[in-house]
Amino acid sequence: LRSLVGSEMCIRDSGDQLNSQHSWFKEVNPSVCYVIMEMRQETDYVDHHLQKVVAFFNAMRQFKITLESQGHMVRYLALDAPENKQNLLLNLNLLIKEYKVSQFQYLYPDEFRLDQQLKKFCTALSIPSLAYDTEHFMTTRIFLTNFFEGKKQSIMEFFYRRIRKDFHLLMEGEKPLGGAWNFDKNNRNKWKGSPEIPAPFIPNKVALESLVSLLKSNDVNTLGTIDLTAFLYPSNREEALQQLQYFNENLLCHFGTYQDAMNTNETNLFHSRISFALNTKMINPLEVVESVISYYHDNTKDIELSQVEGFVRQIIGWREYMRGIYWREMPEYSKKNALENYNPLPNFYWTADTKMNCLNTSIQNSLDTGYAHHIQRLMITGNFALLAQVNPDEVDRWYLGIYADAVEWVQLPNTRGMSQWADGGIVATKPYVSAASYINKMSNYCDECIYDKKKRVGEDACPFNSLYWNFLDDKKQYFYKNNRMGMMLRLLEKISPADLAGVKERAYKIIANPDAF
Ligand code: FAD
Ligand code: SF4
Repeated sequence: LRSLVGSEMCIRDSGDQLNSQHSWFKEVNPSVCYVIMEMRQETDYVDHHLQKVVAFFNAMRQFKITLESQGHMVRYLALDAPENKQNLLLNLNLLIKEYKVSQFQYLYPDEFRLDQQLKKFCTALSIPSLAYDTEHFMTTRIFLTNFFEGKKQSIMEFFYRRIRKDFHLLMEGEKPLGGAWNFDKNNRNKWKGSPEIPAPFIPNKVALESLVSLLKSNDVNTLGTIDLTAFLYPSNREEALQQLQYFNENLLCHFGTYQDAMNTNETNLFHSRISFALNTKMINPLEVVESVISYYHDNTKDIELSQVEGFVRQIIGWREYMRGIYWREMPEYSKKNALENYNPLPNFYWTADTKMNCLNTSIQNSLDTGYAHHIQRLMITGNFALLAQVNPDEVDRWYLGIYADAVEWVQLPNTRGMSQWADGGIVATKPYVSAASYINKMSNYCDECIYDKKKRVGEDACPFNSLYWNFLDDKKQYFYKNNRMGMMLRLLEKISPADLAGVKERAYKIIANPDAF
């Protein structure tokens, strides 16, 4: 947020507005004061992972240092500053008075909640106000709405191709490079111990102990743990760019192939871990994909196009698409529960205390690092929550809290839409559910599990198997008209009534007390 002192004010209230390349900062204006605030309003709206809060506060503090070193005036309200009212609007009123502000400016927030709060605030202000684009995304908030206007479905693939064409990314004239838009069939391999996975990028060491103590002494509720010797979140743009370069040089060559793989001993595989840097806006999506594509063109002997296309699709396809869905569908989206699921979230989501090896591994590494890669989020924790018919409100709260990259505009469509099908098919044409066979195909989780991946009844049967068939049976009325569910429903019909009764009995046992499994 920005304010002209005696004349103007720019306020940056939140940790996801750390775009040092924004045109606001091109010139130093001594009558402009930038405001950055650490507030209980933001730490407390859900319980966040300790590493998430530390990573955000650290990046905000580093951003203040960068701006000041460039000569900008910055007012930083630390969490324990005596004048901090811990609420955005109360703080703004205080600062506007203190600096005798004559114009108030802010960057468009990416969260609906903050957007509404600031809009309301500005309407009531007696001084003029101005909102600016964040200069981060490749598409505007309403681009997706206009693009799909009048269409029955909003298919990501068409959106993705349009962005590829508009920005001329991986294109040969009007045609996609390599003759295809999608190389997914070359991807999706299980990782069986080779090729070797490089260690993750480790940013420069900064002292974070004081931030951890600050949160503790102010009784901020957090979840998960922190190991300061293995803290992987970048502090600033420079480190984010190094992280990107590290990805290009070490991980890109196998990214697509092992994109959907999971392994008990490997948290990151060939994933970039760039989401935190992107979501705080330290770096922007166009520069990320341009850097990856340029590295590919310089190294075509070592890197296949399928690896690069797979990565570019995530950033300019899924990421931009999810943002467009968010702004088109909010605020109703956050209440959607198309499958009418109302069960509570198992307690083991907060502790990893479960015998199911896939869930234990995925949740434990989330608690340890504030990170899990996409397939763990979608096909392990998300899959189980949907099969157990958990209330999407509870599922949302967990995903919004546990991951360091979780910001509502991207977390919500991924959780409620892609993962829980609570939006009734806006994002995903069919629910992402699977029994043990898929998990076993993509990971080594089942090899070391006490449950039998092949059984669906009996004390040692894999809970995913009983829950899967029970889910299809319980929810079949929602899917009769869905062509993509036809095969699954036909397989369900082939199960004899007696067998199905046995499967459902076990599934209800699991749903009644998931923490016992
Ligand atoms: P990589 O696998 O290296 O992918 C590169 C980048 O592509 C990511 O950094 C991310 O910016 C983008 N990307 C990939 N998939 C998606 C996607 N589905 N939606 C949006 N961007 C994508 N991503 C978040 O950034 N924040 C969230 O809060 C979040 N919540 C999720 C919740 C659920 C239930 C699911 C299924 C996915 C969620 N994702 C979220 C998407 C994805 O899982 C993460 O972006 C990814 O795991 C981040 O790790 P990475 O940087 O190593 O990604
Ligand atoms: Fe998970 Fe079932 Fe495999 Fe165990 S057997 S790891 S519970 S899918």
